[in-house]
Amino acid sequence: MSDFLTPSRLSPTIRKFQRLLAPMDNARLEALAQESAAATRRNFGKAIRLFAPLYLSNECINNCQYCGFSRDNAILRVTLDVAEVMKEARHLAREGFRNILLVAGEHPRFVSSGYLEECVRALAAEIPTIALEVAPMEVHEYAPLVAAGAEGLVVYQETYDRSVYAEMHTSGPKKDFDWRLACPERAYEAGFRRIGIGALFGLAEWRTEAVALAQHLEHLLRRCWKAQFTISLPRLRPCAGEFEPRHRFEDREMVQLICALRVCFPHVGLVLSTREPAALRDALAPLGITTMSAGSHTEPGGYTGAGQENLHLTTRGKAVSAGTLAPDTLATGQFEIADERSPAQVAALLKSCGLEAVWKDWDAAILDGSAAFSRD
Ligand code: SF4
Repeated sequence: MSDFLTPSRLSPTIRKFQRLLAPMDNARLEALAQESAAATRRNFGKAIRLFAPLYLSNECINNCQYCGFSRDNAILRVTLDVAEVMKEARHLAREGFRNILLVAGEHPRFVSSGYLEECVRALAAEIPTIALEVAPMEVHEYAPLVAAGAEGLVVYQETYDRSVYAEMHTSGPKKDFDWRLACPERAYEAGFRRIGIGALFGLAEWRTEAVALAQHLEHLLRRCWKAQFTISLPRLRPCAGEFEPRHRFEDREMVQLICALRVCFPHVGLVLSTREPAALRDALAPLGITTMSAGSHTEPGGYTGAGQENLHLTTRGKAVSAGTLAPDTLATGQFEIADERSPAQVAALLKSCGLEAVWKDWDAAILDGSAAFSRD
């Protein structure tokens, strides 16, 4: 089923993409950046969609070597209840967000599909755009989440190198490379209209990873032609477990990759998160990016302190004594944020670059023709 990843079967678009990833001098990179910026403005105007991640739970039954939430890590964990999720969401709404990405570790007991459905249903009454970044599911498990109001699904393959994947995912359901690889197609079949894919850069050699990611994208664009796709290029950040990147992926290479993706896939959204430092985000925003997070927290309850009273220390899947916690202690985050500016500061920066921060570009009423657009 993953024939589309075969290196010998490269389409003309992927061959062009490969050529644009080759080492290049500054003048050539500058020309590529200009071409990318022009293609972005032509296809997306000046709009940059802003979103915020809302972490529901950091419980996880998988061991992914690069992730702070790995089962074996001794960290403070919590799963927010629906009221706590709403508290976090209302805080984000007050900051301006109308586009929220719900994130959770993989734990069938704490993060069941019923729990996710309840969260989505409660949020959908107040938040117009809801996406999920949660454990891969079957089509029949996704369908109720779509019906409850989730319109987007994000699932990163992490690495397309099967041997690196096997080394990184040592236990838990995530070990199954093919089950994860087919997840975007299951999400499409279930009715998600926005689908995000990506790779975690730093695990494998970046050019090889990027070509495989582009092959996956090309395959999905052919198969799932009614959906909108976004690509994310997260780089490894410090986290519990202290995993060190295996491969370098420098800022200059990231610029080149983003511009090459834009030139080869002009209609695909490109996402940039707060994993990247402010200066690099500011430089990349006009070149090809269409979607950015801002003011992010990667710990459940990180925006308001919700769920603090239920924190518990877990290691190797077992609760152990955490001793007495300071009153303002939060759950452990997935990774450290690099751009710590507030959403308002990020929006102001975009404006100063001639770009427009878009907090909301979708309303369910569009589908029934009764939309009355407000400025919020
Ligand atoms: S990457 Fe996801 S599945 Fe892996 S440990 Fe982290 S939260 Fe769990």
